[in-house]
Amino acid sequence: MRYKTIVGLEIHAQLMTNTKAFCSCNNEYGNDPNTNVCPICLGMPGALPVLNKSVVDYSIKAGLAFNCDINKDSKMDRKNYFYPDLTKGYQISQQDTPICENGYIEITGDSGEPKKVGLIRIHMEEDTGKSIHTDDEKTLVDYNRAGVPLIEIVTKPEINSGNEAKEFLESLRATLKYIDVSDCKMEEGSLRCDVNVNIVDTETNTRSTIAEIKNLNSFRAVEKAIEFETNRQIAMLENGETEVKSTRRWDDSVEETILMREKLVQEDYRFASEGDLMTVELSDEDIERIRATLPELIAEKKARFMSEYDLNDYDATVLTADRSLSKYYEELAKVNSNYSLVSNWVINELLRRVESEEFTTDEIKFSVSDFNDLLNLVESNKINNNTGKKVFREMFETGKSPNTIVEEQGLLQISDTSFIEEAVDKVLSDNPQSIIDFKAGKDRALGFLVGQVMKATKGKANPQMVNELLSKKMSE
Ligand SMILES: [Zn+2]
Repeated sequence: MRYKTIVGLEIHAQLMTNTKAFCSCNNEYGNDPNTNVCPICLGMPGALPVLNKSVVDYSIKAGLAFNCDINKDSKMDRKNYFYPDLTKGYQISQQDTPICENGYIEITGDSGEPKKVGLIRIHMEEDTGKSIHTDDEKTLVDYNRAGVPLIEIVTKPEINSGNEAKEFLESLRATLKYIDVSDCKMEEGSLRCDVNVNIVDTETNTRSTIAEIKNLNSFRAVEKAIEFETNRQIAMLENGETEVKSTRRWDDSVEETILMREKLVQEDYRFASEGDLMTVELSDEDIERIRATLPELIAEKKARFMSEYDLNDYDATVLTADRSLSKYYEELAKVNSNYSLVSNWVINELLRRVESEEFTTDEIKFSVSDFNDLLNLVESNKINNNTGKKVFREMFETGKSPNTIVEEQGLLQISDTSFIEEAVDKVLSDNPQSIIDFKAGKDRALGFLVGQVMKATKGKANPQMVNELLSKKMSE
């Protein structure tokens, strides 16, 4: 491992406040262009911003969830630059006094061990409008997004691969959603990520120039872009080539980063205090008030699931990755104390059928009590496991109760000995070779015969009884 990849991330997350950061316009995605606007977010001369208190609360909440120090005194600054989607000619941001500093997020590193990735800062700022380039080469601007509150999260350069970056982002997104600070929808732009990558040659201690990659629209793209840059920059180091600091974009169709522009001079944003806004002064009570609103976080919840429900690491990880999924599991676990059975059915049957990427109970047409009725039917051997899965599929598709489905389709498992015996006798007389095989010690023959009996009884026979009867008869 002569070359080491060094990655730092800058993440922008839109906050789920009702209104924008400095005016009372709706903070809502997908409305008609330029309908959520007012003189403040349009940057009209003389219009004065007022800081939305929820923006401060949400930022502190994120900082606490990510183990940050909260700055009791912080101020807003103006970052000056010119761009059509920036109405005022400057963006209100935070420069030297970010509201949160020095946090970390724990991930599973490439070594397989837990690894803390440090956060330099989390600061509050406003989003810009959105330029839309049309097919006939016009540029339109939608200012609905102008003034939408953001937090920018800046990591230390402590991520060392594409995989670690993906792990980090998944953990960050899950937590921001857990604490109801951001919905983190990359496809709607409410979570965006820029990546800084360079390589260090550990033998000579030479470093490649940092490349900044933008336009990354999925965690997979982040991972792939880092892998691509790693290889590109190692090749440059090996060939003794150099380049100037550059901004590149990721092209998903060719899976390559492409040069956008070279950064020949350091941009000068002429930062200055935002004189139209007061400084943000926080007391210990303010911070504790926010801390009290934090829900149980993923790591704590996972540990509790493992001890309270006796689940293994994998099940606990899956069930707590999403807050609404963990809530659903706990509702079911309240009425059914066979926790591993519940976990099994939720993970293997329910999750398999929920189509959206994020777990939502909207897709589930049956109640928790119906789900429990199904588990009871399986546990009490009234239906066997395979029939249970079929019933579950039907419940999921139609919303019918399991008892109705079982009754309508006559699926109740048959434990009547004489009925099963009849089927067993028929299968044995039809398959003399299997009896010989079984006696010769071929275990597979028994499995085959069980299958035949189940088929003959349309899956309704109690498989355990079939098994016992077959073994008994063949040993006679
Ligand atoms: Zn406005």
